[in-house]
Amino acid sequence: MYKHRQTGTVWRRNLFLLWLIAAAVWPAGGEDPVIVYITNSGRRYHREDCSSLRRSRVPVTLGDAVQSGYEPCLICDPPVLASRSPSRSGIYRVSREKPLSCEGVEFSRLVRAEVIDHIDGDTIRVQISNPPEELRTLETVRLIGVDTPETVHPRRGLETFGREASDFTKSRLLGRPVYLAFDWELRDRYGRLLAYVYTQDRRCHNAEIIRQGFGHAYTRYNFHFMEEFRRMEQEARRAKRGLWGTASTKE
Ligand SMILES: [Zn+2]
Repeated sequence: MYKHRQTGTVWRRNLFLLWLIAAAVWPAGGEDPVIVYITNSGRRYHREDCSSLRRSRVPVTLGDAVQSGYEPCLICDPPVLASRSPSRSGIYRVSREKPLSCEGVEFSRLVRAEVIDHIDGDTIRVQISNPPEELRTLETVRLIGVDTPETVHPRRGLETFGREASDFTKSRLLGRPVYLAFDWELRDRYGRLLAYVYTQDRRCHNAEIIRQGFGHAYTRYNFHFMEEFRRMEQEARRAKRGLWGTASTKE
């Protein structure tokens, strides 16, 4: 009985010590004010380059934004105050982890998902069991940094290579487990999840599409592996792989 009580005291003291260490090590904030951006009408704050800032863009400090009741944007995932960050689940974002290449990600930290449907070469539907807080059980995933020819184009009908690209993605992903990594922007304006999709052999499918000439590097929006994807496209063009080998290819 006595011994048991003593163990409890030791535990409480250890917890108190841990709290002291955490309080000392945790960044106090406020040394270098973080600037975020708000709009004239919205109730959320953003990163500088968020697509939601097209109409207005007012710089404020992160502290002021939070104190005024602004919530972090769900699309661009801006910084949050240090005291709030431990509650956030740490989905793997290449913009934060900065791996040197798209296949240099920490595979064990990616989100596992099952591909339940495929829409075209660069868009799939996945099911995530036990999704982390930012994600849902069912998600439409747009692959980051790659664009495949549309399967059906309103004017040109079936675009050259649209079907091949779509079949390529279907054959490699449909019904299989994939692993998702994210960049700084989690969703596009349609609410689709933006992700790098990895197969079990640890290959990045986004990159694989470009390498094999089933699509081109989509560089309209910035992403972490843009330079690497551009180089892959140049290489595929030189080797006349896939769509780069067909005579009717349009830029
Ligand atoms: Zn935003």
